[in-house]
Amino acid sequence: MTPTSLRPDQFSGASTLTSLSPPLLSIADLEVSYGGTTRALRGVDLEVPRGAIVAVVGANGAGKTTLMRSISGTLGLEGGRIVRGRIDLDGRDITRLDPADVVRLGIVQVPEGRRIFSRLTVAENLRMGAFTTTRAAERAALRRVLDLFPWIAERMGERAALLSGGQQQMLAISRALMSQPQLLLLDEPSLGLAPIIAEQVADVIRRINRAGTTVLLVEQNTAMALDLGNIAAVLHLGRVVRVGDADELAASGEIERLFMGIDDGATSGAK
Ligand code: ATP
Repeated sequence: MTPTSLRPDQFSGASTLTSLSPPLLSIADLEVSYGGTTRALRGVDLEVPRGAIVAVVGANGAGKTTLMRSISGTLGLEGGRIVRGRIDLDGRDITRLDPADVVRLGIVQVPEGRRIFSRLTVAENLRMGAFTTTRAAERAALRRVLDLFPWIAERMGERAALLSGGQQQMLAISRALMSQPQLLLLDEPSLGLAPIIAEQVADVIRRINRAGTTVLLVEQNTAMALDLGNIAAVLHLGRVVRVGDADELAASGEIERLFMGIDDGATSGAK
């Protein structure tokens, strides 16, 4: 079952996976290799409805980060290459665009490991995220960030290195929000955070989504991902082997079976 298009108001449990409008992001038959040898993605199909939180889960090396890099245009910086397939944003082909052009079109990635500029101040980090916008838009984005994270106002002049791990993750997310993206890509936002801090990050992601930003997140923390996502997809050895309502997947126990290697997705409706 492909979750083609859902209205945000259909997301209470996202049990109605019906097609009503075109997806915001559409990935078709995406194949990616590194150095011409490693096939990291082997024909990925995935659709992200406007207004949704889509969570992609998968074990180490499943291809989650590669999927994010493919969308954000940063694959080439890591020695990777799209061999086949297509990525569309709102019906427009964005396959192989430069990272800056992808940002201008409204997709921003928060990379794994919260790569903030630790020697720069909090304010400078935020300004870096607004490189594609006008001054007026930057001010509006900053208001939105401070509304989400009031503590940032107190720390603007401090070096980012002095923030805690959780605060650095919030800053990385804030920097991404400075360009007012329509689609936020989050790579392992809970990685390395204490459970209570990870829960705060999850709460922030929900609020960002409720304010209108579509979210695609990849996570090894399956519990958090299924809890946050309206729709969940399981990536296994470079293929999406399950996609559906996150609550139903959580209840079915299928994910555990996939992670434990009992089921390789070749049966029962794998794509
Ligand atoms: P993890 O959670 O460990 O980051 P992942 O699901 O994000 O895993 P990827 O990092 O996308 O998976 O890796 C998918 C495959 O591509 C793996 O076999 C990995 O070794 C390989 N790979 C990833 N990045 C590179 C790179 N820059 N150069 C070569 N191979 C890479």
